[in-house]
Amino acid sequence: MINRLIVALLPYLPKGLVWVFGKRYIAGKELKDAVEVTAKLNGQKIKATMDLLGEFQTRAEKIGYYKNEYLKLIDESVSKNLDNSFSVKPTMFGLLLDEDMCYKNLREIVAKAASLGRFVRIDMEDTQCTDRELNLYKQLLNEFPGHVGIVLQAYLKRTLDDLKELVEFDQGRGLVNVRLCKGIYNEPAELAYKSKNEINQNYLVDLDFMFRNNIYPAIATHDKKLITGAYELINKYKIKPDRFEFQMLYGVTPGLRRSVVEKGYNMRVYVPYGNDWYNYSTRRLKENPHMAWHITKALIYAG
Ligand SMILES: Cc1cc2nc3c(=O)[nH]c(=O)nc-3n(C[C@H](O)[C@H](O)[C@H](O)COP(=O)(O)OP(=O)(O)OC[C@H]3O[C@@H](n4cnc5c(N)ncnc54)[C@H](O)[C@@H]3O)c2cc1C
Repeated sequence: MINRLIVALLPYLPKGLVWVFGKRYIAGKELKDAVEVTAKLNGQKIKATMDLLGEFQTRAEKIGYYKNEYLKLIDESVSKNLDNSFSVKPTMFGLLLDEDMCYKNLREIVAKAASLGRFVRIDMEDTQCTDRELNLYKQLLNEFPGHVGIVLQAYLKRTLDDLKELVEFDQGRGLVNVRLCKGIYNEPAELAYKSKNEINQNYLVDLDFMFRNNIYPAIATHDKKLITGAYELINKYKIKPDRFEFQMLYGVTPGLRRSVVEKGYNMRVYVPYGNDWYNYSTRRLKENPHMAWHITKALIYAG
């Protein structure tokens, strides 16, 4: 109840207060902050996927700026010898405005990353983007095999069909690389499972399908039950450790993250940075089960 109230109040809270709670999920506002966090994670045997924050862009000059920032980021992480990939949100490059422009911008980023032996993952946004982002992925996968991946969301009823289509598209090459997450956007019940039980059940059905069909899964969750379910599937199908990885978000469940690393499995942490931190932070705050308590306490002390 209190959580729902705080979620409803979030848009009205001063940005400064949102930053106080949201900054734990962000490496910082500048590229050097993301580099620092990534180097630290690498020191703990953890890879990173670096993400420049910003989405749903409509202005061409801003889109050009973001593309150049990604190209800079790729140069910087290669020159610093960091162990990381990159995550991109296609709406940052005008996906909903002009698909061809978006493709050209993303292509430049993926081409540069691929030429330096690096990997780019296309994040999945809300359902107005699902088909468009899958199309982008297929196009780029043909051009840069082994250097590009996609995200699918277990809350969507269509995800198993999308996985089947990707297997057909792959034609046995074993190149399909999918980060499987629960999904963060508020989707209608016709399209998405709404209860935690159904989402979790679907997650494990999707993951089981991926293991049986030679799709490389990036198992992106902080849910202990799903991680245990993933361990069971890995043992059942005797999957080699280089055919999957776990992923978690920066600032979330570091203890659980350590326990996965200690088992000897590959772990990659999503490291977001940049000035456009607000939308990402509020999404994370809404997911934090203790958020209502932290914010209520802060408001009482501030008062
Ligand atoms: C690497 C990565 C990339 C992602 N990329 C995408 C994407 O492209 N598209 C998309 O729609 N979604 C993406 N997500 C978000 C995802 O869809 C979920 O919204 C998010 O991961 C929470 O789901 P969960 O599986 O951790 O389960 P939950 O049931 O939400 O969480 C399990 C437990 O983790 C802890 N926890 C979770 N979130 C928080 C938090 N913010 N603060 C503190 N504790 C927390 C709590 O203890 C909670 O009980 C990504 C997630 C990860 C890990």
